Amino acid sequence: MAQLNLHYKAYDLQLEHTFTVAVHSRTTTPIMLVELEYDGIIGYGESAMPPYLGESQKTASEFFAKLDLAQFSDPFRIAEILDYVDKIAPANYAAKAGIDIALHDLVGKILGKPWYKIWGYNAEDTPVTSFTIGIDTPEVVKEKTQKASPYKMLKAKVGLDNDKEMIATIREVTNTPICVDANQGWKDKYKALDEIEWLATQGVVFVEQPLPKEQIDDIAWLTQHSPLPIIADEALQRLSDVAELKGIYSGINVKLMKATGMREAHQMLQLAKSLGMKTMLGCMTETSCAISAATQLSSLADWADLDGNLLITNDLFDGVKVVNGKMQLNDRAGIGVVKIQ
Ligand code: MG
Repeated sequence: MAQLNLHYKAYDLQLEHTFTVAVHSRTTTPIMLVELEYDGIIGYGESAMPPYLGESQKTASEFFAKLDLAQFSDPFRIAEILDYVDKIAPANYAAKAGIDIALHDLVGKILGKPWYKIWGYNAEDTPVTSFTIGIDTPEVVKEKTQKASPYKMLKAKVGLDNDKEMIATIREVTNTPICVDANQGWKDKYKALDEIEWLATQGVVFVEQPLPKEQIDDIAWLTQHSPLPIIADEALQRLSDVAELKGIYSGINVKLMKATGMREAHQMLQLAKSLGMKTMLGCMTETSCAISAATQLSSLADWADLDGNLLITNDLFDGVKVVNGKMQLNDRAGIGVVKIQ
């Protein structure tokens, strides 16, 4: 009888530009490439682990080494398999996501259908994606903004002391709508509200994680008074967090690497929508593998920020594309990728 065979390998993504957000700066992102083979068919997955989140190629390898997936002879038992994986050890969110994505790719390939079709979504309903402009000198910000002209939404990283300069520099180049991510960089709710009121006059659409996630009362106050939606990112990990954030934030930013993969990210987006919250689908620096997996879910998102594969120089997959600023799905089975290296 056929069984599930797991293979994994460390790989380092090279970033085109040094990436600076409010809390850190870096030029590479460590990932694990995951393959699940069953009866000659290979499903691809990926675990992307920006260092500040605490996982590493070492912790992921140790996690994978604990798994005995060969005990499963039916890959269609997705819930049973992923519940087993989730219970092996706490946390290890990205490692779990790598297995989840590979399993979805495998099952989709066995069925001969992409996941957005299996779930019943319309490929035309995908959102536009934002393109991220990191914190940098005005010259570099202008250059990056010019290069981002095909995108219909820009994402500006703020939260250091040059926020207004960042936005004003982008506005010298373009009137494209901007979303803003402070990555918990502001500390005072009154200053944050002042800032947001100014941002609202600059064509900014929403603000992600303005204050540290621990300042729950301040964030709830800010959301009540803010002219722009306030979106939780760092404050959100998994499905069990979603309902608690209602009333504190306007919406949530779901990422496969936080959510342990496609299955739970799907549940989170559905729950958030049912609670009347705004939905956003984000990413880490990832190859087209994880980005294509996330895009299968993207018709549930009001906004997408799925540009992680566009910020690297050594992608290993061909997958979904951005066409006229909008995520474009393809008809390939599974998560919609082929390996190109
Ligand atoms: Mg964010």
